[in-house]
Amino acid sequence: MTDIEMITLAATLIASKQTKQGVVADVGSVLISASGAVFTGVCVGTNSGTICAERTAIAKMITDTQEYGIQRIVAVWKDADGAVFVIPPCGYCRQFMADTDPRNIHETVVVLSHDVAVPLRDLLPYHDWWQRQP
Ligand SMILES: [Zn+2]
Repeated sequence: MTDIEMITLAATLIASKQTKQGVVADVGSVLISASGAVFTGVCVGTNSGTICAERTAIAKMITDTQEYGIQRIVAVWKDADGAVFVIPPCGYCRQFMADTDPRNIHETVVVLSHDVAVPLRDLLPYHDWWQRQP
């Protein structure tokens, strides 16, 4: 699956629904697991908490396959005119990906556009910055 195909699939997941105090399915995410399986997710925002689309897709991957490695991931949002935007993972999702499997920090590629993709480690440059102080 190409990055453009991932973006296109993620955009089809978007079906925004206003909840009491949140928005559901405003963002869609597609990930390719380390074994090559494809998983999808949407954001679920409620008054009792928000789960980003990326974490929904990761949770589905773990639930369905007990797999933790992410090869590639993208998240997409649309404006009121239907224009598609690729959005970067929030800090919580970046750390979640890193914590899900220690290999992800080096092996996961985050798609940031149809022609830009970066390793997860580039989005978390200080992920292993634990400096003992004198
Ligand atoms: Zn997030």
